[in-house]
Amino acid sequence: MESGFNFGKFFGIQFRVHYSWFFIFGLITVFLALEVFPGAIRGQSTPVYWLMGIVTSFLFFVSVLFHETGHSLAGRANGIPVSSITLFLFGGAASMTREPATAAAEIKMASAGPGVSLLLAGFFWLAYTVFLGSTNTVAAMALWLAQINLIVAAFNLLPGFPLDGGRVLRGLWWHFSGDYVRATLVAVFWGRVAGFLMIGAGIYVVIQNRDWLAGVWLAVLGWYLENSARLSLKQFTLQQWMKGKTVADVLERDCPAVGGDISLGELKSRYPAGKCFRVVATLGKPEAVLYLPSIGDKPDATSIVEFAQSMDRPIEVSPGDNLLTLAQQMNETGKDYAIVKDGDAFIGMVFLDSLIDLVNRSAAT
Ligand SMILES: [Zn+2]
Repeated sequence: MESGFNFGKFFGIQFRVHYSWFFIFGLITVFLALEVFPGAIRGQSTPVYWLMGIVTSFLFFVSVLFHETGHSLAGRANGIPVSSITLFLFGGAASMTREPATAAAEIKMASAGPGVSLLLAGFFWLAYTVFLGSTNTVAAMALWLAQINLIVAAFNLLPGFPLDGGRVLRGLWWHFSGDYVRATLVAVFWGRVAGFLMIGAGIYVVIQNRDWLAGVWLAVLGWYLENSARLSLKQFTLQQWMKGKTVADVLERDCPAVGGDISLGELKSRYPAGKCFRVVATLGKPEAVLYLPSIGDKPDATSIVEFAQSMDRPIEVSPGDNLLTLAQQMNETGKDYAIVKDGDAFIGMVFLDSLIDLVNRSAAT
C-alpha cells in the first residue's frame, strides 16, 4: 500500500496512515459534532460539540491502532513477523510478510484484534458509567467509543476471509481437516457471500427505510469485503503456484555480455528488445549486471559501466533457492528483479513482471 505516510515506529513495526483516513477522520468528526453529540446532550455551545467530535474521532483512530497492534504482537509471539501497519478507510491492514505456520498461530493472531476492540469497548463503557451524571460530555464521548469498538469487533468477526473472523474460520477448518488450501477456499467463499449479503442489505435499507447514509455505508463495506476476498484468493493462488518451485524454474538466461565503454543510447539501439545485460569488467571496475527497465530518465550519453555501478544492490539468489522465499524478499524490499548466481558465476535473472505473466498464463490453462 503506497499512498500513505509513515507516522512512527513502535515495537519495531512501521505505522502508516492511508490518505483516505483524513477523509474518514473529517467525516466522523462532522457526524459527531453535528448529529450525535447535540442529540445526546443538549445545551452545549457549538465549539464544545466540535471539540468533542475531534477528540472522539482521534480516540477512535487510536482504538483502531490498538486493534491492529494486537494482531501484530500476537502474530510476532507466534512467529509471524509484521513489518508495517497501514490504517486505511475501514480500519487497518497489517502487512504480513509470511503466512501463518500453524492453524493455532492463525487463530491466535486473528482473534487478538477483535479481542483488543472488545477490551476497549469494556473500558469505554466503564468510563461512561463513571462520568454519567457528573461530566455528561465525557460520558457521551465514552458511550459512543464503547459502541463503535463493539461494532469494529463485530464487523471484523464476520466469518469471511480476509476479515479476522474469516481467518479464525480458516484456522479452525485447517485445524480440524488438516487441509490448508481447502480451508482458505472455504473462508474466501464465505467472505464473498458476506460481501454480497451486505450489498443486498444496504440496498434493502435504502429502499425500505429510506436511510441513505446507513444503506450506502453497508453496501460500500460489502463491496470492499467482496473485492478483498477475491484479491486474497489471487494472492493465495500465486503463493500456491510458487510453492515447491525454485529459482531455476523461472530464471532467464538471456542476458548478453556487453563492454562497459558504450553508452546507454548505443546499448538501446543495439539491443532494442534487451532487458538485462552482463557488463564485463571495464576500466578497473568489476563486472556488473544491468537491468534496463530501472534506467528511468538517465541521459543516453551515460556510460553503461557508470550506470551499472550506480544501481541499487540487487537481490542475489542461487538457482536452487525457493521461489516463494524470493517473492517474499521482493515484496519486502520493493525490488522487481533479482540476480541469479551459482557461487560467483552469473547465471541469469528473475523479473517480477515475467513471473506474474507466467502465473497468469498457468492459471489460464
Ligand atoms: Zn483485525
